[in-house]
Amino acid sequence: MEGRGGKDRKVFGKLRKVEVVEYKSGLSVEEVERRYGVKAVKLASNENPYGPTPRVYDVLKKFRSFNTYPKELPELKTAIADYLGVEENRIVLGCGSDGVMESVFKMFVDRGDEVVIPIPTFSYYHTLASVYSAKVVNVERREDYSLNVEGILNAVSDKTKLVIICSPNNPTGNAERVEDVKAIVESVDCPVFIDEAYAEFSDWNMLSLLDYENVIVSRTFSKAFGLANLRVGYGVMHEDLVRYYKSVTPPFPVSTLAQLCALECLRDLDYMLKCVKTIKSERERIYRELKRRDIEVYKSQANFLFMKSPIKAGEFVEELVKRGVIVRDCSNFLGCDDYSVRVSVGKPDENNAFLRALDDLLSNL
Ligand SMILES: *Cc1c(COP(=O)(O)O)cnc(C)c1O
Repeated sequence: MEGRGGKDRKVFGKLRKVEVVEYKSGLSVEEVERRYGVKAVKLASNENPYGPTPRVYDVLKKFRSFNTYPKELPELKTAIADYLGVEENRIVLGCGSDGVMESVFKMFVDRGDEVVIPIPTFSYYHTLASVYSAKVVNVERREDYSLNVEGILNAVSDKTKLVIICSPNNPTGNAERVEDVKAIVESVDCPVFIDEAYAEFSDWNMLSLLDYENVIVSRTFSKAFGLANLRVGYGVMHEDLVRYYKSVTPPFPVSTLAQLCALECLRDLDYMLKCVKTIKSERERIYRELKRRDIEVYKSQANFLFMKSPIKAGEFVEELVKRGVIVRDCSNFLGCDDYSVRVSVGKPDENNAFLRALDDLLSNL
């Protein structure tokens, strides 16, 4: 089997010509320990540092149906419907909200279609557009990272199949004004996909716009509910779109175990709300601490803060890693400058570790 895996193999010539932008996740704690010999604190993936409600562990202990294929649990849909205040028949599940998003692309986006994306934002939208051979029309946000509504409306054409709005936006942390998104939704014929992965951390959300038939909202159990590793996301769309969604989605996108755990999270909303309350108060504390150090930092409605580092973001992240704290370099995000950094809000002692590492770095500049 000589040459196995080499790029000269004929199979590579058969690959689709897509400009695949590989999703780059941040450095892992293990990698940092190997490289620098320090046990690092990870504030780079916007995870819930407290984990899910402990009641999830009882579900895990009891679960026995590993040998049977999953089914959609009606109880989960009912619980989600109650949680959001929407009709049950409008809810779809996906392998994370990333999975929901991919299925929505499959529903609407063909080769040559256009997708309008305000930047900077979550990079997976660009990956999907590329995979589905769509043309991306990027629209720069305003200086405060709010939506450029006029720019977006000008970017929409007959070929536009999706406008993607992320609110609160990753990585900038701002939540969009409902009025802005409403203006877009009312002016376009195409679906407007609203990614609300961080809605639980925000003082407002876009659910009121679900009255419009071209609005699709996605949510997830990965962030506020602390279930990122179980991959449970959901979407809300017009009830007549649901069967199209189901026809393009893989047969068993979410395991029964994951659905049961998600259900348990909704049955213990108090736990989630308590986590969110602590995280929000820590978010405001870090914001103030950064301001006090004259760091340019932006108001956030999510569980992370977007800031401009005093030295190039790549170096800044490297220097912090050496000091045992992993944050996210956003300088390679489309529409971000060389000083863009995102810091997830962790537990108080993790946040203090970040501030200490920052102070150490600043005093050595
Ligand atoms: C984390 C994140 C997601 C992914 O959520 P999953 O449900 O884990 O797939 C989606 N959108 C944004 C903006 C995110 O930051």
